[in-house]
Amino acid sequence: MTVTVRFAPSPTGHIHIGNARTALFNWLFANKANGRFILRFDDTDVARSRQEYADQIQKDLFWLGIKPDVTAHQSSRFVTYEAAVETLKAKGVLYPCYETPDELERKRRLRLSRRLPPVYGREALKLTDGEKKAFKAEGRKPHWRFLLPNFAADPFAPQRTEVHWDDVVRGPQTVDLASMSDPVLVREDGTYLYTLPSVADDIEMGVTHVIRGDDHVTNTGAQIALFKALDAEQPAFGHHNLLTTSTGEGLSKRTGSLSIKGLREAGIEPLAVASLAVLIGTSESVAAVYSLDELVQRFEPTATSKSASKFDPADLDGLNRDILHAMPFATAKPRLAELGIEGEKAEPFWLCVRGNLDRFADAAEWWTIISKKGRPATEFSAEDEAFLAQAFAELPPEPWDQMTWKVWTDRVKQVTGRKGKTLFMPLRLALTGRDSGPELANFLPLLGVEETQARRP
Ligand code: GLU
Repeated sequence: MTVTVRFAPSPTGHIHIGNARTALFNWLFANKANGRFILRFDDTDVARSRQEYADQIQKDLFWLGIKPDVTAHQSSRFVTYEAAVETLKAKGVLYPCYETPDELERKRRLRLSRRLPPVYGREALKLTDGEKKAFKAEGRKPHWRFLLPNFAADPFAPQRTEVHWDDVVRGPQTVDLASMSDPVLVREDGTYLYTLPSVADDIEMGVTHVIRGDDHVTNTGAQIALFKALDAEQPAFGHHNLLTTSTGEGLSKRTGSLSIKGLREAGIEPLAVASLAVLIGTSESVAAVYSLDELVQRFEPTATSKSASKFDPADLDGLNRDILHAMPFATAKPRLAELGIEGEKAEPFWLCVRGNLDRFADAAEWWTIISKKGRPATEFSAEDEAFLAQAFAELPPEPWDQMTWKVWTDRVKQVTGRKGKTLFMPLRLALTGRDSGPELANFLPLLGVEETQARRP
């Protein structure tokens, strides 16, 4: 069977680096197995879901290099969920409950005070037809719970019922179905909670591997029971650890912390995000990868830590630099063109400056420094000015190449007796207007003899 995974974000905000981890784990897993990747928007919560967020998520994934084979929206798949509801009702494992949130809270406290686990006591199963009618007459609408298969004959006497799976990230897992409440699948207003649509879709879409954050481990127990109740084979599951900031805070889609959109706008490269999002909290060291293919090779889900991984967003800066410093011209070319950097100088320019970039956009500043005619606005002491006059008089004749700088500065050393910083710094300042920057051996031939002469102070 073709390996099929899905990334199922709810479009209620911008996805962050932790969501990118889930998306990439799925993408890399599918790629390793030549499988399929489904992007499925969990948008059954109509009040909080927005199309603009869904559009942005799609853009963010593309930017990261993830191109889904299929894109689906749960909001247009209600027929599937209604059919699942009918199946469960026919089997007698979906039952109506009429408690209000207050009543449920009271029941929960009562159980706690009796030292019973605070799970739902299935009181609604005892309702007679008359009682249900009376509720209806009152205008109360039921919500619907899934009767977990955690009892032998009497649902009021739940027994330890272990559900097992061999997690593709965490290894063997066990959840006890008696430790949880029967999950509500359908709300009073007829809308679906996440649990059922997710399973119904996974069945219909042929999902073979459900890979998601480890906040879903308990859910998986109930969902495995749902797969069975719907007469379907359960897929394989994988739960990766979550990312937290260095202060231990979780990331939230709603607060927009470290959103992919924000990182992109801050000039962080997609591969820097991907390197960090995938490699942190694994036995691999966090280092820049230069293509998603390379990440596919390095990705080993079982090497993921089981506890939350703290990460420092500042690490992205270092990864970003590493990626830019090694970026081939072919990759940079279209983006340079967007900055107006084109023509025969574009390639030597890129090779000259890439090692000095923190952000790709910084290339534009260096292009301006190279292209702007005449002397940069720099003040020199009288002594340095005299030195520079002597130095510029020694510029070698054309043709110029990477060796010209050495030939020139060797000669200047001889003539002026200067060496080290006192020799190089005034030259750098005169040529670039900056006290640091790319190798002047590469910079000088880019500038050319005429423009170099023009920068003589
Ligand atoms: N919408 C759910 C989430 O973002 C999906 C979980 C899942 O992959 O099943 O947590």
